[in-house]
Amino acid sequence: MGAALDSLLEYDRAALVELLGSLGHKAFRATQVMEWVWRHRVADFSAMTNLPPGLRGELAARFTLRPLEVVEVSESAVGSTRKFLSRLQDGHFVESVIIPAAVGRGGAHSSRMTLCVSSQVGCKFGCRFCASGLLGFTRNLTASEIVAQIVAAEEIAGERVDNLVFMGMGEPLDNVDNLLRALTVILDQQALGIGARHITVSTSGNVPGLRRLAAFGRPLRLAVSLHGADDAVRSRVMPVNRKWPLGELLPALREWSRTGKHMITLEYILIRDVNAMLPEAYKLAAVARDLDAKVNLIPYNTVEGLPWVRPSEEECRAFCRVLVREHVPVTMRYEKGHDINAACGQLRLRRESRL
Ligand code: SAH
Ligand code: SF4
Repeated sequence: MGAALDSLLEYDRAALVELLGSLGHKAFRATQVMEWVWRHRVADFSAMTNLPPGLRGELAARFTLRPLEVVEVSESAVGSTRKFLSRLQDGHFVESVIIPAAVGRGGAHSSRMTLCVSSQVGCKFGCRFCASGLLGFTRNLTASEIVAQIVAAEEIAGERVDNLVFMGMGEPLDNVDNLLRALTVILDQQALGIGARHITVSTSGNVPGLRRLAAFGRPLRLAVSLHGADDAVRSRVMPVNRKWPLGELLPALREWSRTGKHMITLEYILIRDVNAMLPEAYKLAAVARDLDAKVNLIPYNTVEGLPWVRPSEEECRAFCRVLVREHVPVTMRYEKGHDINAACGQLRLRRESRL
């Protein structure tokens, strides 16, 4: 394996002007490179035929346009969602999930294609229901590796991603510098141009990261993996709650919902005898009302190697009815087979366990 090259996918126009300027080239070259990368989607510098050959060679020696390689595409049991697994330059794997509009409802509005991306290789937070935490944490993805998942998805699907969710492997706000750098390119009309209102960042509740994201100042959507409506339950399910307990998280979320343009979504996985009992539903309703948030209930998907149990459909419905009665906007996805979010983390787990 050769040394990893930096990637140009995380350069917005300003950064390209600076880079090319440092190599002695005028600003219009940045416009040309942007067009090759984002309009024509070339994978190779040799295709940039209106650049001087010297510059092409110089860029090719230092940069890559494809920092990951798709090695497996698999159809999911649900609808026509497709998961793909990509190998990074250092040999690690990440996965992403393409969700067509008919399946990607719930916040996806009129979008045609939703993409679920990973933000880290593994995850250090070890939530007790989550496959991503099982192998521990390896490293942050670079901004280019985040962006490259979108480029790859558009190549696989032959159409544009118009709705993006950070619900794959990893905690995006634990990698907030690279997340914000990637978002700059993702939002840039001259690059990927996905609208802020069509991007959802999902977090397990990283308070300093939340503040950074709020300061970024774009009207992104926020999903919070809550999974427990008091500290005792939440700490049992999500050890990260010991670091940033509800007493710290909720004020940061109140601040977000005061200044943000969209309702926060509280994600709540229903786990039998852990957090799916009816008194928990009343506690959850109180938290949601306080934050003016909506709730997304997700019946737990069994993960091989993890102990917990999915409640019956009737138990899930009873939980959901409490929220409805308490006037909390609530959705529940009760699909047979694997929910697409939960499926994130599991493909890589299989692949890395085989190594
Ligand atoms: N680290 C971020 C982003 C990852 S999204 C976060 O925690 O929010 C992780 C989401 O995947 C969870 O909120 C949940 O919605 C889903 N998920 C993970 N494991 C699951 C499982 N076993 N069953 C159902 N949903 C699961
Ligand atoms: Fe990490 Fe999110 Fe999974 Fe928790 S739910 S282990 S924070 S990816």
